[in-house]
Amino acid sequence: MPPSTIVHDIEPGDSLIGIFTRFDLDCGALNLILEADEPLLALDILRPGNTLTFHLDEESRCLEEMELFIHPGNRVVYRRADDGSFTYEEIILPGDWQIDLVEGEINGSFYLSAINAGLSQKEAAQITRLFKEQITFSRDIRAGDRFQVVRTLQFVDETFTGQSRIEGVRILRRNRVHSAFLCEDGNYYDQNGESLMRAFLRYPTAQRYRISSSFNPARRHPVTGRVAPHNGTDFAMPTGTPVLSTGDGVVTRVSNHPYAGKYIEIRHGGDYVTRYLHLHRILVNKGQSVKRGERIALSGNTGRSTGPHLHFELHVRGRPVNPMKADIPMTASVPRERRAQFDQRVTELLSLMDGTREQIALR
Ligand SMILES: [Zn+2]
Repeated sequence: MPPSTIVHDIEPGDSLIGIFTRFDLDCGALNLILEADEPLLALDILRPGNTLTFHLDEESRCLEEMELFIHPGNRVVYRRADDGSFTYEEIILPGDWQIDLVEGEINGSFYLSAINAGLSQKEAAQITRLFKEQITFSRDIRAGDRFQVVRTLQFVDETFTGQSRIEGVRILRRNRVHSAFLCEDGNYYDQNGESLMRAFLRYPTAQRYRISSSFNPARRHPVTGRVAPHNGTDFAMPTGTPVLSTGDGVVTRVSNHPYAGKYIEIRHGGDYVTRYLHLHRILVNKGQSVKRGERIALSGNTGRSTGPHLHFELHVRGRPVNPMKADIPMTASVPRERRAQFDQRVTELLSLMDGTREQIALR
């Protein structure tokens, strides 16, 4: 009898439909899973190294459950519900965060020097973005300039999950020091509490449009009638309305999803990501840098949609938040109520960089 559990490690070039076909899985279930995944879009990009596990009913051979293993701290389980549809559950473990100081001298590019010192490509790119308003790395950095990075690394059961967070950075140039420190609000500020990021726009359009559906973690879906989180804000607007990036950033996804429609994801400095769904036309490419207020698309009605609208999401530190209410960088410095805590954190991180202290509090 064939096994009722199938484990598949995702390889470059894999597609869900390809995997379903190869293991002779029910493609009707695939469609229901994609439907369940719309608020998350975790399956839209399959990453090599992630694993899919399928559980089939032993008698009927029906697919009952599919698990996406992203890393030891993050799994998503899609389960068949009583009515035959699928639901998702995202399992996020807090893990243990360990502090790590990485330092080095810059020879050649900052990016390569940072990687040689032990930072990941993602971290090196994030630091480059953090300082892009202040430092033109190709022009301002000289051989012999130095950098110090304090980061935290996530471990689950002693295994590094691959997840890290930049807590503080110093770039020591011959006659200038640049710094960036993470505040509890998710933004980076310099040692004096001045924002490194330009302010965000609250709205992704030049004009205001009526909110047709608000951010709601327990919304009843207008088409299916089922309860599913609504991880963004919907604005009713005519098809063809220019959509603007709400902050400076890099386009990390340009995709077409059966339910989300044509959509864009942008990663901004700090820990911010925005998504724009159901677009009519996309005007940017993956990997492209965009500015706050730049026209990135024309709104539409693609995917599963009840009428022309823009669905706009804001994620802070990997979690969707209400884009109309979230603390986004609107101001130039650390918010007053967070100031004392921020100054305390900067003192701790600087003492670690200066070597006058070996341990600091984790948070
Ligand atoms: Zn929506």
